[in-house]
Amino acid sequence: MRIVIASGKGGVGKSMLASSLSLMFSKERKIVACDCDVDAPNLGLWLGIKKYDKIEKVSTSLKAFVNPRKCNNCDYCIKICKYGAIKKINGKIKIDKMLCEGCGLCEVICPKGAFKLKPVKNGEIRINTSKYNFPIISGKLYPGEHGSGKIVEELKEKINYFPHDLSILDTAAGIGCPVIASIRGSDFAILITEPTPSGYSDLKRIVKVVEHFGISYSIVINKHDINKRMTSRIERIFGRKVIGKISYDDCVINSLIKMKPVIYTDCKVKKEMEEVYKKLKELLSL
Ligand code: SF4
Ligand code: SF4
Repeated sequence: MRIVIASGKGGVGKSMLASSLSLMFSKERKIVACDCDVDAPNLGLWLGIKKYDKIEKVSTSLKAFVNPRKCNNCDYCIKICKYGAIKKINGKIKIDKMLCEGCGLCEVICPKGAFKLKPVKNGEIRINTSKYNFPIISGKLYPGEHGSGKIVEELKEKINYFPHDLSILDTAAGIGCPVIASIRGSDFAILITEPTPSGYSDLKRIVKVVEHFGISYSIVINKHDINKRMTSRIERIFGRKVIGKISYDDCVINSLIKMKPVIYTDCKVKKEMEEVYKKLKELLSL
């Protein structure tokens, strides 16, 4: 079974929930935890991981490379590159790799065949197998790079290298490419939200995404006590889909600073996480 934790909005507690559920499930099941938030991976921090045992560099995009010896200085490529990645410096054509989107147009139009697209190492897959009795896989895309969805697909492949009966995927914020790649193929989604107008609005968007993929889901409201009216509204609208409410608790920040998983603290949220875990097990007959 693959459970995905998503939210549609950043900073609402996805990684806190994913790390807590991973630790609780790992006591009864063979699990793999996977951080699919490749632009800002932080599941490891919630699990107290400072260092990964294994780091593999991956390539998910192409960039243009130019051979200046073939160039006849027609400057055509400078005019056609929509991303402004091609410049002339000291009379030579140069490519700004941060701006190049690998569209390949320069390769097609250069009359001298001076351009070539090549794969570049633009991210990492990190694996930790030593800290707990389950593997933690985390993807990371380098700053300014693209191809987040592809790294997520590679992470999902990597999960299958480890024997398991349950995997827990922590997604990126929003409803973009890496989130869709994480959700696709999952068996169940837990959508976490907070009772604010933007939290509610983003919850509705992520619900549409999981419904599009025909995936069943439950909702957890984090910091439910900061806006009781909005919490009641979400409960009224989503009814039994809401399986848990987590309180606002300063203790959570302290546990993160100490890199101590919240379920190993005496924070108030610990009990609430355990309730979510219990309800989830009942719901999924696990
Ligand atoms: S299009 Fe080709 S030949 Fe013309 S300036 Fe660019 S690299 Fe040189
Ligand atoms: S591949 Fe596309 S974005 Fe990159 S330099 Fe060529 S035209 Fe510009």
